[in-house]
Amino acid sequence: MADVIVIGGGLLGFSTAYHCVLAGARTTLVDRRDTGWATGAGAGIISPETETRGLPHWFEFAVRAGDYYPVLLEHLKADGAGDTGYARCGLVVAATGEDEAAAFAAGRDRILARQRARGAPAPADLREISPDEARRFFPPFRTVVGAVYHRHAARVDGRLLVQALQDAAERRGLVVRRGSATALAMEGARIAGVVVDGETCPASRVVIAGGAWTKAFGEQLRVRIPVEPQRGQIIHLRMRGANVGEWAIVNGFRGHYIVPWPDGRVVVGATRETGSGFDPRLTADGVREVLGEALRAAPGLADAEIQEMRVGLRPLAVDGLPVLGAVPSVAGVYLATGHGPSGLQLGPFSGKIVADVALGRDPEVDLAPFRVTRFDGT
Ligand SMILES: Cc1cc2nc3c(=O)[nH]c(=O)nc-3n(C[C@H](O)[C@H](O)[C@H](O)COP(=O)(O)OP(=O)(O)OC[C@H]3O[C@@H](n4cnc5c(N)ncnc54)[C@H](O)[C@@H]3O)c2cc1C
Repeated sequence: MADVIVIGGGLLGFSTAYHCVLAGARTTLVDRRDTGWATGAGAGIISPETETRGLPHWFEFAVRAGDYYPVLLEHLKADGAGDTGYARCGLVVAATGEDEAAAFAAGRDRILARQRARGAPAPADLREISPDEARRFFPPFRTVVGAVYHRHAARVDGRLLVQALQDAAERRGLVVRRGSATALAMEGARIAGVVVDGETCPASRVVIAGGAWTKAFGEQLRVRIPVEPQRGQIIHLRMRGANVGEWAIVNGFRGHYIVPWPDGRVVVGATRETGSGFDPRLTADGVREVLGEALRAAPGLADAEIQEMRVGLRPLAVDGLPVLGAVPSVAGVYLATGHGPSGLQLGPFSGKIVADVALGRDPEVDLAPFRVTRFDGT
């Protein structure tokens, strides 16, 4: 019998499972690796300080999550796990057309006002820069009408991170099972285990980290989980003969971005197709949108080779916030989902917090804004 069964093997599931085994719990993770798992497609940008969505409670949590990355990486290193691609490579928020100037000014003012109010990051680490400086940080730009630079912004490779978590967790005894969790086994209002491909696996606690597929358990749990798939299409370009690894990440003003990697990849994305349903396809319109926006912002990428295209289904909650913590209707069941476009930023920390709650420890953050009960009556 496991102490904990985790359903889902994306970043949220593996982070939760790793923190469970770190705490000494006997843990099993069940994963189906659906086509369209979000972690496999994610761009990997970690930069809460330049986020302008203005979601309440999101920012404080995201800053804690960003600070937690180096801590997790130390744990993984000590456990002999491989590279995750994590690096603080800096990020330029840029407006590249006059039509974006007003939106840029509003975003810049919000970013810098928050910096002043918090007294962090230091002015040298988050500041407005000139168009020439922006082009030095990211040479494929042509026209830049306004830019802000954040020195500590980072990137991570979601696939490598999940592999590192899996390797480290397996060394500590995690059991990984490929399969589909088709139902929860209950004893009255208490969890008793998980039915995996027809076999009941007993456990006293179950964490559901099923990404966009999590909602399927709502009926059995008698709880509303309004998390839906939001399709994202993203393209990996390759630039030869350029020091791509020295370039900064770019965040544009139409929700698009560019992430350079030391191996010469330049990842451009992404569509945000709310209402896409479970339809993880690359489409002509999606590919046109992603390439069109990348080349509009950075004409210097025109000669890059197309290496790969990916598509993922972001698990997006109706109010844009993660869904974390206990399900009150069934004792012993916990949720870790709903991270939408920021699951790679938040995932390591969210997994730690949910593992803490599931193991009866103090989660060190107030989970009230993220509880599934916030949707009651909506
Ligand atoms: C194009 C794109 C770009 C992105 N860029 C960024 C970014 O720059 N920064 C950022 O922070 N975030 C980004 N994200 C978001 C991030 O990738 C997601 O929020 C995060 O990966 C979600 O992880 P997850 O573990 O919740 O879900 P997933 O990675 O989708 O994993 C869920 C897993 O659960 C499994 N599962 C579900 N139900 C069952 C079941 N019943 N039985 C067994 N297994 C089950 C699935 O098969 C899947 O393997 C991006 C996403 C996309 C698509």
